[in-house]
Amino acid sequence: MSHTKKIAACFYSLGWRASLALSLMVALLIGSGWYSYAQINALTQATEKHASEHLPSLELLNATQLSITRLANLSGNIANSSAPAEVRVLLAEVRSEIINIRRYLNTLEKNPEIEALNKVVDLLEPNIEQIGVYKATLAQLQHDYDKQYLSVVDAVIQYLMSADADNKLVAVNLVRQLAALNEAERQFEVAQVRREIQASIQELKLQQSDLYDATHAAILADGGLFENRHNFDQLQADIMRLDTQNRILLGNVVDYGKRVYSSMEQSVMAQATSLRENSESVSQSFFWVASIQVLLGILLFVYFRYRVFARLSALRHLVSEDGMIDADELGYFDKRNEIGQLVHQLDSYLKTIRSQQQQIANVSVQLENIIRQSQMRVAVLAEDNVLFCSESLAAVFPEHPLNTIYDFPEKVVAALQDPPTSTEPELILSAFYDAHHQRWYDVSCSQVMWSDQAASLISFADVTERVRVTTEFKRTLSAVENEAFLDPLTGLYNRKMLDKRERQVNSKKIAQNGFAVLLFDVDFFKDYNDHYGHLRGDEALKMVAEVLRRNCPEHADAIRYGGEEFVLLINSRDRATLTELANLVLDEVFALEQQHPTSAYGYLSLSCGIAISEPGVESLLACFDRADQCLYQAKNNGRNCVVVA
Ligand code: GH3
Ligand code: MG
Ligand code: MG
Repeated sequence: MSHTKKIAACFYSLGWRASLALSLMVALLIGSGWYSYAQINALTQATEKHASEHLPSLELLNATQLSITRLANLSGNIANSSAPAEVRVLLAEVRSEIINIRRYLNTLEKNPEIEALNKVVDLLEPNIEQIGVYKATLAQLQHDYDKQYLSVVDAVIQYLMSADADNKLVAVNLVRQLAALNEAERQFEVAQVRREIQASIQELKLQQSDLYDATHAAILADGGLFENRHNFDQLQADIMRLDTQNRILLGNVVDYGKRVYSSMEQSVMAQATSLRENSESVSQSFFWVASIQVLLGILLFVYFRYRVFARLSALRHLVSEDGMIDADELGYFDKRNEIGQLVHQLDSYLKTIRSQQQQIANVSVQLENIIRQSQMRVAVLAEDNVLFCSESLAAVFPEHPLNTIYDFPEKVVAALQDPPTSTEPELILSAFYDAHHQRWYDVSCSQVMWSDQAASLISFADVTERVRVTTEFKRTLSAVENEAFLDPLTGLYNRKMLDKRERQVNSKKIAQNGFAVLLFDVDFFKDYNDHYGHLRGDEALKMVAEVLRRNCPEHADAIRYGGEEFVLLINSRDRATLTELANLVLDEVFALEQQHPTSAYGYLSLSCGIAISEPGVESLLACFDRADQCLYQAKNNGRNCVVVA
């Protein structure tokens, strides 16, 4: 696959798309988380900065405002106070407040308003100090003036007490005028009183009154009452002027203070607004990021719902319902992704299956026709019902029509209980014998489609000839086999049978209930042969064999072991019966009265050794060996007798 094709395959892979979408979601979550963290961090820092920078500034500004207010009050108090001691105390407070204001202003961030405020405070301080100095001078002047005034009034009163009646009038007027002077507050009133006092003093001069000398210098001369009054008024006016100036400056201070405060307040407000806007923008950002994530989640869900799940359910529908995929449904699936590939593959399989189904249907029809027209013995069964039965099969069972499975013979019904599922014919019943027609059938079964439904086709194949041949063959084989086990001279079993029984006992092919070996031997048979010849010897052996065959019990074997030795192998352990049987055989042989001139008994006789097996443990050979020893014992005992182990 080329590089471009690999990339295209990745792009169209649903797994790849899902991974990409999930990665995008995760990246968005991480990005938005980082953005939110950065925004909150910035907001927190800005808030902390705002709080740490501006709140102390506002507190300072508040303190400055308070100090300015106190300064204005102190300034007014100084201007209004007439007590020097109080003025000094107030001045000390003024200095302390000015130091405070300067300190506050130096601490605050510099701006043109603060610079201007500093300058105004610079101007204000010497003015207040000056007012203090003026106030002290004013107090001194007041004191001097009052002293002078009292001295003049005192002189006039002294004069009044001693003067004559003509002069008293002028002195009284002077007292009144001095009182008016004390009352006068404005310049023109003072000038008016001065003119009146000058006229009174001029009259005193004309009267050559003593009072003239005492009052003229004290009131009108340099350093007199009027000059002091003038100086006092002058100083008062200066204080007024300075006070006014101070008030203006204080007004400026208050004004600048307010401006500084309001500009600071505005700046703080602006920053608070900016913080609020920032926090609003952060929360809006959160809202948008969350909305985008929710939207993306919904889009992903919708995508998977319609692009994947819908296809999966359509696929399930297709596969489960009718196994058909039409072109519209196929159009749903893009070959370039995993599900699309599967569906297109499935479509191709379904098409193949449909064509194969069609072929099967055609073949089924053909098969049906062939079966219907053939001479085969067949029947078609669905469930338990017979759908079709050929005439030749119906002829096999002429007693009744074959309508259901239970109309067949029992053996066939039993074989059909568990029919094979393969379409290949399978033998379910071998060599079924139809006694009525004396015929043999092999019954086979296979699965077929019959008129568009699944059915079992059973066929009966006539195997009578095969069974006959086989039976014949088996019989021949059995005869040959039997012959191999027979002794040609006597017709009894030969030694091979003993070997066979030995194997059967060892392999437990015959029941191990125990057995007995009866071993017979013709006495002095060599001599018999020598005397009569071997042919007579053979005849004698045949006679002995006949006695043994006659007395051999059912299920026992009479065997010529070899030469003139015979064995009866009996499935019994009954000692008495076995001894009786052996003696019977010996008696019957003796009763044949075959002349034996060299035998002590005169007639042909047998000796017998009997061994009874230990049940389940002893082998046939071991038992035979014991019987042989008993036979030897019988020979030693004089022959023509039985010895039992
Ligand atoms: P004992 O009483 O001790 O058995 O003496 P015995 O002579 O019978 O024993 P021995 O084993 O010496 O002789 C057995 C004889 O049986 C030898 C043999 O000539 C004879 N014999 C073996 N097989 C045949 C056979 O098929 N036909 C004939 N006629 N004689 C046989
Ligand atoms: Mg012998
Ligand atoms: Mg013998």
